[in-house]
Amino acid sequence: MDAWKALGLRKPKPLDEAKLVALLPKLRKGGGMASTGALVPVLEALGWTVEPVLMIVPTDDAGDFSIVKDAIVRGRRVEHSRDRTFLEQRRRDLIESSSDPSTLRLGEGTSFDFSEVECWTREGGGESCELSYQDVIAVAGLRFTDTRGRSYEAAPSSTDRRYNQTVLSRRVGLPAKESSWLDDINQRLGTEAHVAGAVRTREGTATCWRCWRNIKLTDDRTMVHHGYQRPGSGEIFGDCAGVFFPPYELSVEPGRMAATDAERKLEAAVTRLERFEAGPREILKAGYRSVTALRPDPAAKEWSERQDGNVRWLGAGRWAEAVRSEIAELTRVVATARANLEFYLHAVRTWKERPLPTERSFEFEHFRRLSKEVLR
Ligand SMILES: [Zn+2]
Repeated sequence: MDAWKALGLRKPKPLDEAKLVALLPKLRKGGGMASTGALVPVLEALGWTVEPVLMIVPTDDAGDFSIVKDAIVRGRRVEHSRDRTFLEQRRRDLIESSSDPSTLRLGEGTSFDFSEVECWTREGGGESCELSYQDVIAVAGLRFTDTRGRSYEAAPSSTDRRYNQTVLSRRVGLPAKESSWLDDINQRLGTEAHVAGAVRTREGTATCWRCWRNIKLTDDRTMVHHGYQRPGSGEIFGDCAGVFFPPYELSVEPGRMAATDAERKLEAAVTRLERFEAGPREILKAGYRSVTALRPDPAAKEWSERQDGNVRWLGAGRWAEAVRSEIAELTRVVATARANLEFYLHAVRTWKERPLPTERSFEFEHFRRLSKEVLR
């Protein structure tokens, strides 16, 4: 069995020369491929090697792994309980079923590096306890090696894993600046080589209404393909909603659309919170393999917990705890949605047509200024 099949991946078919030559000029301008599966044959035609690798990644990370140099295990999973005995038993069970992460096979997971159960006294009496540990799973990722011998790795994100998708079905961003990508395309096309050390000018760029980054413009003055990344966060989440729309400098329309989206999201968040507060019957928790429903079990003991398929039945005390934390979470979502709506309403209200940015950085400072004005 080949390495692809062994990791449950189907190797993408090679690309014929005519298609490749038609595609490369678009990619050179910053265009992207619909999926990683479509990108693999392009990379191979350019002399890169692409090999499937087994990667050990954290299960609770909401981030997108995209292309990372090495898949590092980061973040810890934390469990809280008011019941010390329960948590200590949970720790023993987890330790008993844990294994060495380096021995994991595809799809297998394990927990390790356990903290002691730590408890502290609560203000209203009783105690709060906490247990933390690392939780990882072995997934099929890809290793890309460019023509200079530098390697980049891509693993399925936690969302991909939840929906049982491979990294091939997703669009992975290439580190175009650091890798040989552009040079390889230029060499293949016989176009002008990239001048090393040249300063990137802001010619032909503008500010994206959705992610507030400086993005290249297409010939018809809309934003080229790019991933969504809000200032301050290092993660890139899927495609940006600003793609193919005019930039901030040239049109207010995308801002109006963003405000409408934000309003819809706020309404949905408020409805969810109100519905839940009016009659909490069930809490859905998305895991990496399935969704678990938490439900109250009136017949059970105060702090007991019983798993039955995808349903976890909770005693009254534990259910009340789960309801409180769900309300806190839904309230946070409402607050974020409201802040986002206010931001866009303000940005639309104060909008005026502006010249396209020059060498000086405009978008980040401007985003910060608008955000501060909303808080006043
Ligand atoms: Zn954007």
